[in-house]
Amino acid sequence: MSKQENVGEQLKNLDAPAVPVKTPEALLTPESQAATNAMISAAIRGVFEQLGPMLEKMALTPEKLAESERLRRAPDPAVIARELRERKLMAADLEDAERQKAANQSACPHAYPTGQAAWHVVRNYPDRNPRYTCPLCSCWVTPREWRIGAPDAENPRGRAYIAPEHPLYREASKILASKGGN
Ligand SMILES: [Zn+2]
Repeated sequence: MSKQENVGEQLKNLDAPAVPVKTPEALLTPESQAATNAMISAAIRGVFEQLGPMLEKMALTPEKLAESERLRRAPDPAVIARELRERKLMAADLEDAERQKAANQSACPHAYPTGQAAWHVVRNYPDRNPRYTCPLCSCWVTPREWRIGAPDAENPRGRAYIAPEHPLYREASKILASKGGN
């Protein structure tokens, strides 16, 4: 028999129905049957008694489900750390830019080299007061005016407050006189 045939034979044997174990004649009495049944029951009960604690541990209780859901939703500490780092960096960049802008604006003469004031007048505000801006430093000069600030608990649409006049407002207003009231 070649090796291949041998393997084929073995595979065929795997499909063959299991030969039933023949109960010995001596065990066919009602007493021995009852005793066998009792032994089998005891053996199976024993197996489940041992498995019991393990099955209990494996069971998905509401508490375990809630805990796993909590862990699933819990943010990744590494992600939070990166977020905080980036926010810090962004805040520092913004602060730098603000400081630079403030320095530019305080150094700006708000006038062209000819001596002509550079203020541009911006109208069309509901309070009829003009605003001024300097094209050289982009500063924004406002009169005393109402503003809507960031929302808080009592003011979900933003807290309204009166902002004081910009320190340059009087000076910038002079441009109107030099332009003949326009
Ligand atoms: Zn300016």
